[in-house]
Amino acid sequence: MQDLEQLVFFLYPVPEHNTIQEIKKLIAEEIKSSYLNKLSSGKFSDQIFNLLYFLRERVNDPDTLERIDFMVRVTRGYSDKTPPLRKKIVKDLIVQIKNYEVEKQKTTNTTKKEKTITIEPAITLKDPLSNIKGVGPYKAKALSRINLYSIEDLLYFFPRYYIDRTHIKEVRTLEVGKDQTVSAVLINWERNIEKRGLNIIKGLFKDGSGYIYGVWFNQPYIKKSIPVNSTVLLSGKVERFGSQLQITSPEWELMGEEEPLEHGRIVPVYGLTSGLSQRFLRNLTHKYLSLTEKKIEDYLPDNQKERLQLINLSQALKDMHFPVNLVDQKQARFRLAFEELFRLQLKIMFRKEEIKTSSALPLNTTGLLFRPFLNNLPFTLTIDQLKCIEDIKIDLAKPVPMNRLLHGEVGSGKTVVALAATMIAIENCVQVAFMAPTEVLALQHYEVIRELLPESISCSLLIGSTPAKERRIILENLLSGSISLLIGTHALIQEDVEFPKLGLVIIDEQHRFGVTQRWKIKTKGENPHLLIISATPIPRTLALTLYGDLEISSLKSLPLDRGKIITIWVGTESRNKVYGFLREQVKRGRQAFVVCPTIEDSPQMEVKAVTSLFENLKEGTLSDLRLTMIHGRMPTRQVGKIMEDFKKGDIDVLVSTSIIEVGVDVKNATFLVVEDAQRFGLSQLHQLRGRVRRSINDAYCFLISDPSSEDAIKRLKVISSTLDGFLIAEEDLKIRGSGEFLGLKQHGISELKIANPIQDLHILEIAKKEVTDILKKDPNLVYEENRILKKLLLEDMEKIDLARI
Ligand code: ADP
Ligand code: MG
Repeated sequence: MQDLEQLVFFLYPVPEHNTIQEIKKLIAEEIKSSYLNKLSSGKFSDQIFNLLYFLRERVNDPDTLERIDFMVRVTRGYSDKTPPLRKKIVKDLIVQIKNYEVEKQKTTNTTKKEKTITIEPAITLKDPLSNIKGVGPYKAKALSRINLYSIEDLLYFFPRYYIDRTHIKEVRTLEVGKDQTVSAVLINWERNIEKRGLNIIKGLFKDGSGYIYGVWFNQPYIKKSIPVNSTVLLSGKVERFGSQLQITSPEWELMGEEEPLEHGRIVPVYGLTSGLSQRFLRNLTHKYLSLTEKKIEDYLPDNQKERLQLINLSQALKDMHFPVNLVDQKQARFRLAFEELFRLQLKIMFRKEEIKTSSALPLNTTGLLFRPFLNNLPFTLTIDQLKCIEDIKIDLAKPVPMNRLLHGEVGSGKTVVALAATMIAIENCVQVAFMAPTEVLALQHYEVIRELLPESISCSLLIGSTPAKERRIILENLLSGSISLLIGTHALIQEDVEFPKLGLVIIDEQHRFGVTQRWKIKTKGENPHLLIISATPIPRTLALTLYGDLEISSLKSLPLDRGKIITIWVGTESRNKVYGFLREQVKRGRQAFVVCPTIEDSPQMEVKAVTSLFENLKEGTLSDLRLTMIHGRMPTRQVGKIMEDFKKGDIDVLVSTSIIEVGVDVKNATFLVVEDAQRFGLSQLHQLRGRVRRSINDAYCFLISDPSSEDAIKRLKVISSTLDGFLIAEEDLKIRGSGEFLGLKQHGISELKIANPIQDLHILEIAKKEVTDILKKDPNLVYEENRILKKLLLEDMEKIDLARI
């Protein structure tokens, strides 16, 4: 009964707070489901978190902030709770939301009165998309899937590429060998052709002047997307076969009624998600570009713009979306890339200065733990490892905080180096925070590290799903100083986690965290020493760009006891052979991973994909083996348990999403199959491959894929031809932007949205020189001419990406 009452409460809308409305809707759904479904409750809490963080970023009032933080706290670990506990949490949330709304109502009432004198509130860049005209809740949700929440996000969501429709040609006038666009009607689809594992579809198109074929590989869905008799714009290189004209893998788009943004001009093409169309996004972006034109503040000083011939920011934004010609677009991109690199450099170099002049507690080795730790390791350290440990030892002994990046080849043994640093810190009676990007990884580190640590050292694990009671005890022990080493996830950055004597912070797999987060954890102590570990080798130029404030240690060589690894890319027609071979290897006592791609945007789809692969294998080819599946939607403890069983050898084959991408370390696993390998990035494939390169045994990595794009083919070729992670990283950067390379884009915290430090090296150099010159003259940015820069810098440095914490 009471639940019904609650439902009623959620039915009355409060239009000015769409985010709250969204939260209410989620809660209503959750109430309807009677809190029973574990999977949907996981999704529920994730979405609530996102919305709360979204909200949090947009309020200033400390009471409201506190209220939101409270909601975050009570929702933590929601899906691991029993249904009655979940019910209680939901109740708490409802109370908070009611109060929130009451407060809001009060404040808007007062501001409304004031507003009667002022003019209609104008649009600002920070306005949430869910509040603006032309975007309903459904569209707002779709937009949020590609991390677009505000008008500003929209303006900075740039096209993936452009189609030049300034000249739409007639079929009759097409020139063979050139990139061109025609507008034609689909006459019919020919029968599908299967050839060497390729599924080929071919459509016949015509305009008033002639006929042309469009041909696609392995994209059978296109047949459904282009109905017969529809008018389509086809763009691409025109080829001739006998008397037939053809465009292979053309860019295509259905033409509806006249759309001025899509005709006779250079048309932007965005990376979309389900529920959004190119047309919708084009129109929306176009509209808000002009509505906000006057609101766009240009931070770069005029003299600098003149000197470097940079165009205005608002012009640049316009030209990125709707350039009149591609030269303008290039100029716009240059301006934006410059600004991005300039701001980043400013931040980094300012920070570096700051660190140099701050003081830290020097940590000298006492011989108590550090030496015995090194002497008792079950293996001999590599020369690279020894060198890195030495670097760290010297840094720690200095009275300024260490600020070091440790990166290197997958499997080169970075964890041990970090542990050596930990020993030095604990010898000196300070605390150590060790932060990993995922719960599974934190758990695994915890287990491995506990084995290696002497009994006398107290070490705990704190993750999002740590039960509240346990969490409280940990926080108490941390505060009393009895915990020396705390391992965990972002959970370590939360407000109430207090270290009285934090001396060293270690961040593992840095590419999952933003630059700002590494500063945030540091504020938990007074200038603690900082060691950052990157899972991926980083090309030098990128290291200098993104980590310019850090000293760098590299691990290039692998421990000597590593076997060979053979990487083979095969088409889907060989799938059975691959699994036959896998079975043979398992019969010889080996273990295997089978990985299928993470499906973008949809955790449910992801679970479905891995489940169906698992079931197929279990019922089919691998029915006689011990198979288990894991994916990211399972509770950490369950994943941890499965990993443990796998390590013990109780499981032969682990079917998984890319959850095992980083850190997982099982020596007897020497066989990896990657399904749909074209969907993984290069560095990601290299990481995955690292999972089976952990022992003296030779290993196999099979990539199953029928790629349809050239980039994908390039990636598969690179990965099967080299084992050199540095080379792979460099290639990866050439193929993709840096944001994606760093794994940041998918989390919406890319520091670099436009610039690609490999391709834009020349811009980076200009930016660096600018920053150096400015800081040389005015190291604290106190001159009037640098006032705006200072403001910008402080803003940048404070921006903490809450969405990820
Ligand atoms: P990564 O650099 O990818 O993080 P890890 O630190 O997880 O690699 O180390 C990979 C594996 O190699 C671990 O099982 C670790 O114990 C082992 N290892 C580390 N250093 C050595 C070494 N010098 N000789 C042999 N094995 C080592
Ligand atoms: Mg590691």
